Amino acid sequence: MNDRIHSTARYRALDAAHHLHPFSDMAELNRAGSRVIVKAEGVYLWDSDGERIIDGMAGLWCVNVGYGRRELVDAACTQMQALPYYNTFFRTTHPPVIELSGMLAQLAPAGFNRFLYSNSGSEANDTALRAVHRYWALQGKPNKRYVIARHNGYHGSTIAGATLGGMTYMHEQMPSMMEHVAHIDQPYWFGEGGEMDAEAFGLARARRLEAKIIELGAENVAAFIGEPFQGAGGVIFPPSTYWPEIERICRKHDVLLIADEVIGAFGRTGEWFAHRHFGFAPDVITMAKGLTSGYVPMGAVGLSDRIADAIVDGGEFNHGFTYSGHPVAAAVAVANLTLLRDEGIVARVKDDAGPYFQQRLRDALSDHPLVGEIHGAGLVAGIQLAEDPVNRKRFANGSEIGTLCRNFSFDGNLVMRASGDRMLLSPPLVVTHDEIDEIVARANAAIDATAKALHIL
Ligand SMILES: *Cc1c(COP(=O)(O)O)cnc(C)c1O
Repeated sequence: MNDRIHSTARYRALDAAHHLHPFSDMAELNRAGSRVIVKAEGVYLWDSDGERIIDGMAGLWCVNVGYGRRELVDAACTQMQALPYYNTFFRTTHPPVIELSGMLAQLAPAGFNRFLYSNSGSEANDTALRAVHRYWALQGKPNKRYVIARHNGYHGSTIAGATLGGMTYMHEQMPSMMEHVAHIDQPYWFGEGGEMDAEAFGLARARRLEAKIIELGAENVAAFIGEPFQGAGGVIFPPSTYWPEIERICRKHDVLLIADEVIGAFGRTGEWFAHRHFGFAPDVITMAKGLTSGYVPMGAVGLSDRIADAIVDGGEFNHGFTYSGHPVAAAVAVANLTLLRDEGIVARVKDDAGPYFQQRLRDALSDHPLVGEIHGAGLVAGIQLAEDPVNRKRFANGSEIGTLCRNFSFDGNLVMRASGDRMLLSPPLVVTHDEIDEIVARANAAIDATAKALHIL
């Protein structure tokens, strides 16, 4: 037995014995064994058997600058030596969090000048709710408590995040949910559009928000939260009519609009923030993932001046985490945002890599007998698998087929995720044309293999 095999076996045995993975059927996973990822460079991962895997998901939608960037490593090292930790609770602050806040104010839309920090996207959404509730209390409207979210949205896995999310398979395992959350239907035209054309459907789904606000009473509704495009829910891009109507309804009823930009921010669609791609203006922005390119954990919440000014003038806001604005995370975030800006990475997604990726995917897959639609912009895409693509008929066992396709892909050394019957791609933003060709070829091969397994090809 050579050393490599021996070490993989040892890792697998220890992992199976002692490590519970997120969102996994552990008995099933332990029988199959996890792949042990040991290193990464650019857009490639290597496992403990020396196999090279192309990462079509940028980790979990987060490694925007790619793996192995020395600038981020150096920033962490330097900061760890100078000041590995200090808090900002009691009249202190530190250079990394100051620089990061200044930088975010530059990069965020006009009117976003203040930021608070967390360690994850879930905590960013929890924090956004704390801030929104504080704001309405300070306005003398403490009854504005309800937050409206969407079925099949994803906002994290804390109690608040999972309640806000619209994942029934999560709700089913939650005997206690957060109070004052209501859900409306998602703008998923392929699956739920029926006879309507996409634009009419987008308007109809946005108007579900207005109906829900009226049902609850606008005087009781604090905010609406949505991902500009649903990520974990399947990279669902709403029809172009959707977001302008949502924004209009929020303004009309004085309901705050929270954009969950945990995936969308920092270049994914070719804009710094995905809400710009869809042309709407939020009141609160939550961020995480691409903020540090995942090198260390960090989340953030941007508050528009209306909310931030009220909180600043409103006395003590009793919220924060031990690691809010952690100096090492903040230093890495500054180095990461500097690369995204100064190397023109975000601009390249918009003008070059994004259009190339979208075109190559459509050239390869639009006419595939298993593919119903391809959604996306920049470097993110959702590929709908369907039984009858032309008539938008989905498979009855779509999740199994998505999982099958994902497994073919992973066996072929491409990380492509499945969400039900949609295949998801979201590569690092530094991906080259050749690497895009490789991702598309491997995705195509996995979808072909799936079709063959179903006797369609
Ligand atoms: C990943 C994600 C979250 C949760 O972030 P964590 O860091 O896993 O807590 C929240 N919202 C969206 C849109 C996400 O994709």
